[in-house]
Amino acid sequence: MSSHSVVIPHSRPTIGTDDVQAVTEVLRSGHLAQGEKVRQFEEELATGLRRRGGVATSSGTAALHLALLALGIGAGDEVLLPSYTCVALLHAVRYVGGSPVFVDIDLDEYNVSPSEVQRRITSRTKAIIVPHMFGMPADLEPLIRLEIPIIEDCAQALGAHYYGRPVGCFGSISVCSFYATKVITTGEGGMLLSDSERILARARELRDYDGRTDHQMRFNYKMTETEATLGLTQFRRLDSFVDRRQSLASRYTAGLCHLPVKLPAAKPDRTHIFYRYVIGVGEAPWLAHRLAVRGIQCKSPVYQPLHRYLNQDGFVHTDTAMRTALSIPIYPSLADAEAEKIVRSVAEEVERREKPSRRVLSLHS
Ligand SMILES: *Cc1c(COP(=O)(O)O)cnc(C)c1O
Repeated sequence: MSSHSVVIPHSRPTIGTDDVQAVTEVLRSGHLAQGEKVRQFEEELATGLRRRGGVATSSGTAALHLALLALGIGAGDEVLLPSYTCVALLHAVRYVGGSPVFVDIDLDEYNVSPSEVQRRITSRTKAIIVPHMFGMPADLEPLIRLEIPIIEDCAQALGAHYYGRPVGCFGSISVCSFYATKVITTGEGGMLLSDSERILARARELRDYDGRTDHQMRFNYKMTETEATLGLTQFRRLDSFVDRRQSLASRYTAGLCHLPVKLPAAKPDRTHIFYRYVIGVGEAPWLAHRLAVRGIQCKSPVYQPLHRYLNQDGFVHTDTAMRTALSIPIYPSLADAEAEKIVRSVAEEVERREKPSRRVLSLHS
């Protein structure tokens, strides 16, 4: 039985009085559906990510769907995507009738492996979806050189930089998610960004069904004014959110670096924003259970690898990550005392796990 009455959740949004005030004002204004606030949110995010324009959507999945449609991807077209990521990517590829081709990851950084991407390219490859997993920018440079359209998935990495430039400014198209527990939130929401007027116009055209005389397939993928207002106040605090995440990550690293635990990779010329702080241990489910008993909710950072949904195998690094990776709570609203408790608990549990095995080893030596 646990003596802890308050559980530290794996994630939670960071909502401040400025968020509450701004949303309240919109509610009082009486203008709730897509309008001026949405346009302003699109403009500010596009400026922040150094893109020509943005198209706000009802979710990150909707933005991915529109991105694939805007690139003209359809039946018979192959889309490369890592196997170790959010299943939304797989859904989006299948919505448009494309063929998903999974790619194994680089286990050190949990991002798609550029050499594996290269190995999977065929004459039918029409796009590569590249998520920046857990807030660490993927190695884009070798992928850009392949000259295949890249959809950068920034759902977990808003505010991260690759060679001094913000992630989201590199792909043919970039998509964001503003789900409740993402880096910034609108509750649910997303955005597609690009430098191509043609792509932006196509996405805008498909987002909304009203006021058209033709009967082309369209969606209702619009964002509301309340969501966009929350997105604006959240985005204006992005730098402080990232600072707080990075300072919590430094504490975790300092408290865990002496243990037999795989810590998040650090790469020159890439800034990690620590959307997740993912450690690698012998047996992640065991440690998750031990920490749950102590009132700390940890999670496998990917629910199920994508190749398993389609009964494929041969993704060795993805399978290893599924077995060993554990995401421990990290978010701007995490209190210092909570962070201390987390790092102390992880260290104690890992040490306790290690000791008996060392004894066994020494008996045999
Ligand atoms: C959350 C997430 C999505 C999907 O975004 P939704 O807003 O939940 O539809 C897509 N890709 C990645 C990498 C994500 O983490």
